[in-house]
Amino acid sequence: MYPKIKRRPTRKVWVGNVSVGGDSPIRVQSMTNTSTTDLSATLSQIQKLVEAGCEIVRVAIPDEKAVNALKDVVKESPIPVIADLHFATSLGEKAVKAGCAGIRINPGTFKNKANLERLLKVCKDYNCCVRIGINAGSLEPEILKKYKTPSYRAMVESALRWVEYVVEKIDYYNLKVSLKSSNWWETVKAYLAFSKKSDFPLHVGVTEAGGLIPGTIKNTMAISYLLLRGIGDTLRVSLTGDPTEEVYVAYEILRNLGLRALHPEIIACPTCGRCEIDLSSLYQKVETWAKKVKADIKLAVMGCVVNGPGEAKMADVGIAGGKGVGVIFREGKIVKKVPEKTLLDEFFKEVEAFLQAHPERVINPRQ
Ligand code: SF4
Repeated sequence: MYPKIKRRPTRKVWVGNVSVGGDSPIRVQSMTNTSTTDLSATLSQIQKLVEAGCEIVRVAIPDEKAVNALKDVVKESPIPVIADLHFATSLGEKAVKAGCAGIRINPGTFKNKANLERLLKVCKDYNCCVRIGINAGSLEPEILKKYKTPSYRAMVESALRWVEYVVEKIDYYNLKVSLKSSNWWETVKAYLAFSKKSDFPLHVGVTEAGGLIPGTIKNTMAISYLLLRGIGDTLRVSLTGDPTEEVYVAYEILRNLGLRALHPEIIACPTCGRCEIDLSSLYQKVETWAKKVKADIKLAVMGCVVNGPGEAKMADVGIAGGKGVGVIFREGKIVKKVPEKTLLDEFFKEVEAFLQAHPERVINPRQ
């Protein structure tokens, strides 16, 4: 049913109380797009991300005000918070001391090595996980000079150089690495090459991937390619828009590879001229509902008797539409035939009944 995937052995590191790498599940993370200084907006977005299944959240720390607000964000957030830093290391030290579980640094944007060394030593003192986040758009000048373009080889050399620096100079190992480009294939090549040379856990994703449809496609191409080869310990699907969508897309990728499920899978037909119920609206309602449910179950929402009964039978609970009616299947058997206007309510009742009979299919996302 799913491809056989052998995950690449990696070190286990910790972002607060969430492990990444080793035998940990592939962790799903996202980033808030609120101003970090707006505590209520940031916490409300974090809460929505958590409901969607996000396990680690990153917040931007562009200035002193943001780092001052971070303490409260960390205190109130139900999941570990990572501070995202560029350019100024003094902010980094304050962020670590404010209690963030991890920092993401882009070494290409840190000009002063002495400051960076001091920051990394503070991370070590506080056991704050460090992500070395290499980005093709901001490689160090000497690397760019050597490679002429921000190629995957340039990204890999930069990443290896920084990993070696942190390990040898700081003697610190609570590290993960990302090597992102806005070109998915260049991104893939960078991760493939890096993974042959280091066993630190990898945070995978494509940067600046765009909005929901193009961004989902670009991320899925790169992330799936890597995960199929066992590469990737945590992922962020980068999308322009509502970050909760990043989390739903991440789980869709993981579920379709048989790596991890969180929300119900929905089988739905595209509809055609044979459909005699309002299947699109029915589907939308089921999808919205399913985003709030954490269970490894398969639902089917099908338009007519051509493929409807077959798919509905194979699902845990399914609908096969008819003329203004729907037949509901549960565990392969017809349980009800109901008019269209009560179809959704009856369907949800059957799903609830299924989950009561199969509590093992309900998922606790923090395991
Ligand atoms: S299941 Fe029926 S309504 Fe849906 S696409 Fe197939 S033929 Fe059309």
